[in-house]
Amino acid sequence: MKGKAGRSIAAISDVRAAVSRFCDEQLSRRLDTHPVAEVHQKVSACVQAVDPTMTPYIFGSTAVLGIHEQGSDVDFVCLSPTDVQDGKGADAVSEVAKGLQSDFLFRLSEAVKREHYLWGIELVRRTRVPVLRVKGGLGVDGVSFDVTANRRNGVRNSALLRAYFTQCPEARWLSMLVKQWSKKTGLNASVDGGCITSYGWNIMVVYYLLRRRLVTLVPVESCDVADISPMPPYMPLETPQQGGQGLADMLMDFVSYYLDEFTPETEVMSLTRAAGETTKEMLSWTKQAEDMARIRGEKIHYRWCIEDPYEYDLNVGRNVTPFKLMLLRKHLERAQETALLLLA
Ligand code: ATP
Ligand code: MG
Ligand code: MG
Repeated sequence: MKGKAGRSIAAISDVRAAVSRFCDEQLSRRLDTHPVAEVHQKVSACVQAVDPTMTPYIFGSTAVLGIHEQGSDVDFVCLSPTDVQDGKGADAVSEVAKGLQSDFLFRLSEAVKREHYLWGIELVRRTRVPVLRVKGGLGVDGVSFDVTANRRNGVRNSALLRAYFTQCPEARWLSMLVKQWSKKTGLNASVDGGCITSYGWNIMVVYYLLRRRLVTLVPVESCDVADISPMPPYMPLETPQQGGQGLADMLMDFVSYYLDEFTPETEVMSLTRAAGETTKEMLSWTKQAEDMARIRGEKIHYRWCIEDPYEYDLNVGRNVTPFKLMLLRKHLERAQETALLLLA
């Protein structure tokens, strides 16, 4: 079959069958959050030993999807009572604040080493956000996780994505399909040479859903850390309706939206304003800004613009270079032929 631009498109009956297989496979897996809850307990004990006023919150995929997927890390942030009470406050970005976060994470790393000497630990101070990366041992401890400190934005953006994904039964499935595909193709930043993080892909999924009016806008201010549980509740996955037919259509429509309708030259994927209203011009994400802007010496690109809903002036797609944008288009074209490699 040929599409609008003369490209090959997979037959929808094949896509439906493939999507249905994907869902069955996921549903046969263990996706409950028990392994995460166990790691949460262990991390809590170490945090308690360092500073009993701090509480580790889980965000990222466990919070966004309400399940634990094999191969996903667990994202933790340790928050103080003040961070939680002022749950809609902006995160501090000063070097002093980052220094304090690093100090706490260093003390935490020492406590973790004492308790779990088989775990691999690395404290990364020089990134935009200081982070303690831990690779668990065998068995239940096999889960890898990241710990940051005093930053609410991750908890808020995960709650925001979750509020979208619970509006429409296909949304979570779409997110899982897109994430898996982005990892397989190497477009996901968790893979060497990748450029868009799972978080970025999730914002792309939500932006598409907003553009199609399949979900309604959730005001970003509505997410308050004071109302959010440190350990996100498990949300079992449900079999998609009509054996995944609607999901299959949505998946192919997602790909064609980003290939043929979205205008990366001018438009910004944003959850802050009504979908379609945010332009690069409005945010001054121009060629000139691109030539000037750097984060810790690294160039920032404004070719594929995803506005962070809570972080000021941050393009979540900042690592998409002109070359990677071309690669992204190629992979989207291939996704149209292969239903995101499900038929490959
Ligand atoms: P995975 O299952 O692959 O781990 P995830 O849903 O946990 O997926 P991540 O990409 O690991 O998503 O993101 C976790 C958190 O890290 C996000 O909630 C966000 O706060 C932060 N983050 C990730 N990517 C970016 C980015 N490009 N810019 C700013 N913050 C980011
Ligand atoms: Mg994660
Ligand atoms: Mg992570």
